[in-house]
Amino acid sequence: MPIYEFECPIHGVFERILSLEFSDAKHIVCMHEDSKEGFCLRNAEKVWSASVVSFGAKPTIVFKNPKTGEMEVATHENQQAPYGYVKEELRGPIERTKFEKEASQRRYVEDELTTEKLKQGRDKTRKNLHDDLNARMNTFDSNTQNMIKMSMRHARKRHERIKPKRTNIMLEVNHKDSSNLIK
Ligand SMILES: [Zn+2]
Repeated sequence: MPIYEFECPIHGVFERILSLEFSDAKHIVCMHEDSKEGFCLRNAEKVWSASVVSFGAKPTIVFKNPKTGEMEVATHENQQAPYGYVKEELRGPIERTKFEKEASQRRYVEDELTTEKLKQGRDKTRKNLHDDLNARMNTFDSNTQNMIKMSMRHARKRHERIKPKRTNIMLEVNHKDSSNLIK
């Protein structure tokens, strides 16, 4: 259905979709709602598209990058499209809504990607630290490694530090040393 523009003496130019049977209407009732006065109900005259361009509602100018799908809204009327971008004019509410939907969907995907990248970065840092630690651990003998692992586990669970476990390891080690055994 075609979109027409009407001008209310109080609320200015607005857009309205009219079915073909009303497309000849020269004016419609402004349905702008005011908290004090309720509906405006003033006569809004149809604005002819030729005059709409020279004054009144201007089209929204956007730039789209066909390769990346990136979109930007022009900050002023005569702005040139950035390199790789194509200029587009959004003339009606349907086009504007479509653009807003596309832009917010894109923003959502970008946000998801950023979150994922941050997460990956964090995991990678953690993995690097882990690999680095493993490399250093391998320079020690197995008993020392167990001791280090044990104390690391204790450091991680500071609130539930269990001392007897460390003692058990000491005992194990000591028992292998026959000089400690009573004959
Ligand atoms: Zn009005």
